[in-house]
Amino acid sequence: MTMDKIVALCKRRGFIFPSSEIYGGIGSTYDYGHYGVLLKTNVKNEWWRAMLSEREDVVALDSAILQHPRVWEASGHVGGFSDPMVDCKTCGQRFRADHLDQLTCPQKPSKHPGEAEQCELTEAREFNLMFETNVGPVKDTASVAYLRPETAQGIFINFKNVLQFSRKKPPFGIAQVGKSFRNEITPGNFVFRTREFEQMEMEFFVPPAEGAQWYEYWKAERGRWYEELGLRPDHLQLREHDPDELSHYSSGTADVEYLFPIGWSELEGIANRTDFDLKAHAEHSGEKLEYFDQPTGERYVPHVIEPAAGADRATLAFLVDAYDEEEVEGEQRTVLKLHPRLAPVKVAVLPLVRKDGQPELAREVFEAVKGRVQAEYDEGGSIGKRYRRQDEIGTPFCVTIDHQSLEDRTVTLRDRDSLAQERVAIGALADEVAKRVAAPWRSPKLG
Ligand code: ATP
Repeated sequence: MTMDKIVALCKRRGFIFPSSEIYGGIGSTYDYGHYGVLLKTNVKNEWWRAMLSEREDVVALDSAILQHPRVWEASGHVGGFSDPMVDCKTCGQRFRADHLDQLTCPQKPSKHPGEAEQCELTEAREFNLMFETNVGPVKDTASVAYLRPETAQGIFINFKNVLQFSRKKPPFGIAQVGKSFRNEITPGNFVFRTREFEQMEMEFFVPPAEGAQWYEYWKAERGRWYEELGLRPDHLQLREHDPDELSHYSSGTADVEYLFPIGWSELEGIANRTDFDLKAHAEHSGEKLEYFDQPTGERYVPHVIEPAAGADRATLAFLVDAYDEEEVEGEQRTVLKLHPRLAPVKVAVLPLVRKDGQPELAREVFEAVKGRVQAEYDEGGSIGKRYRRQDEIGTPFCVTIDHQSLEDRTVTLRDRDSLAQERVAIGALADEVAKRVAAPWRSPKLG
């Protein structure tokens, strides 16, 4: 399976498409259409569910994208958030020096940059990935600000605020979902790497002695989340970083990796950030960022375990994992075998024909289910065409209203994966679909 098939389906069905297309596009920037918004929202909601609703030791935060520029000095981003890049004097393109073996020469696509005879690469230089902007009407060095390159720092700088109002004590976490911006040198592979993307990050503050134990806990927990939402276990792995790969703040990092069409690649990083960030912000701001335990009189700077995921990258992994092409009754179908909880639309309501009172009854059925689960009403085109459309957007259930429905108020419920059809009473339909959506699920691609 190639990424091209996913890109084509996303465009064809309006999930995700290139941004600013009427102006010729702007490289590696994408817009999400109706089904893409529903799918990515479901991914984020599942993350919130796992982080908040199913626990009591994590609170939510939504910090600003523009923050005081000193935040990024303290975090190390002004000084060190850079990638090595090289320019090619022949084609004028810029490449990430540490990714050359994965990139192609624009003039000789069978070769990597630097390999063709005419290539002339410069020495590697460090390139800061933060987008700079100016706050206020004056463009001078005093007004420079950055679009946040990660959501995590917004959490650290609010540690004191959250401690005051949340009545939590370590171990506890602060979770945030939001846009981040990185001026990536070589974005690409669809929404895998873009310059504007959404992150889902949680900083879990623990007593220093418990750091190692919580690091193990969150690695297991985050792997389980992807599996529970249907990613095939043989396409998922946890890769511990070698000591020479570790960031300056980390005493341990592991990546949850997924087997994308481009090979094993990072989906999410889980890092033991120790007390690096709170100490750095305490030093730069002059504020005490520590925890005082009243009963024991103990005062300490918590250590932090961070699971940091990307909403767009996770959405892409779910799409890739779900994509299937198969033959059904002599006809080829493309289908997204998405976990029902992630599927953009849970049920499509389809009158078999556009006459004999069927559309009227189908509208009644749609009205009855639409508040319970995301539903869609469709009466246009042959039933086969409508099924194919719903298969391609990953709708797990289709309800068909036929002549029998008018006689006995039952409908057929078609299962996207098994293609089994059952008759269900209209009165019981909403409950039945909601029950099936919530049920445990495993990818039918596993057999
Ligand atoms: P990479 O090595 O792929 O550049 P990273 O290790 O720099 O990623 P983190 O800083 O750990 O990434 O960010 C956490 C998560 O945010 C990543 O696992 C990924 O899912 C997502 N992410 C990071 N950069 C991008 C990007 N440019 N486009 C889309 N998602 C991204």
